[in-house]
Amino acid sequence: MYNEKEFQIMKKNALENHIPIIMDDTLEKIKEILKEEKPKNILEIGTAVGYSASCFAIFSDAQIDTIELDEERAKEAIQNVDKVGVSNRISIMIGNAVDILPTLKGEYDIVFIDAAKSKYSIFLEEGKRLVKNNGLILADNVLYKGYVMSDYNKHKQRTAVRHLREYIKEVTENPYLKTEILDIGVGLAITRVTK
Ligand code: SAM
Repeated sequence: MYNEKEFQIMKKNALENHIPIIMDDTLEKIKEILKEEKPKNILEIGTAVGYSASCFAIFSDAQIDTIELDEERAKEAIQNVDKVGVSNRISIMIGNAVDILPTLKGEYDIVFIDAAKSKYSIFLEEGKRLVKNNGLILADNVLYKGYVMSDYNKHKQRTAVRHLREYIKEVTENPYLKTEILDIGVGLAITRVTK
């Protein structure tokens, strides 16, 4: 059982404070995936205030490990998952995922990437190492408001777009990865990994 009222308050506060939490249509797809995959464990990169981690806990029976760089956000996430009543299944690591990921072991059923766009290729490499054979790597924001598929990008977005295009190239061309890219939310890549 979880506290639906606190879950909705967390969502409302996150949206009011412009925290980029997963969008509703992305959550609907994730719910379908959780129902089919029945994950026992999930690794999330990019906790923010704990909204998506709470969704994973509410809509599956998985144990969730999640990493957040911003200490303030991570502290808020710790409080939020407690209020929602799912803290017993969520472990929040505070720090840079680029440093934390190489220290992790274990086989995750699902790896969810939702952090710095410029680090997606690093997250993918670590995700491939940490996901089990036939597991899934999900990456949010791969279409980045349409910029990734557009020829013209402002200087501000160019680096992120280049990194996201590299990510898409790898997940669609590597023969060990089978990927579907959905134009929902901010773009969701669903990659099945064969090891
Ligand atoms: N997954 C969250 C949700 O849907 O509720 C939203 C995550 S938000 C899009 C991205 C988060 O990743 C931010 O809170 C940011 O501080 C964090 N982040 C960015 N770079 C990171 C890194 N290198 N390591 C860990 N977290 C990082």
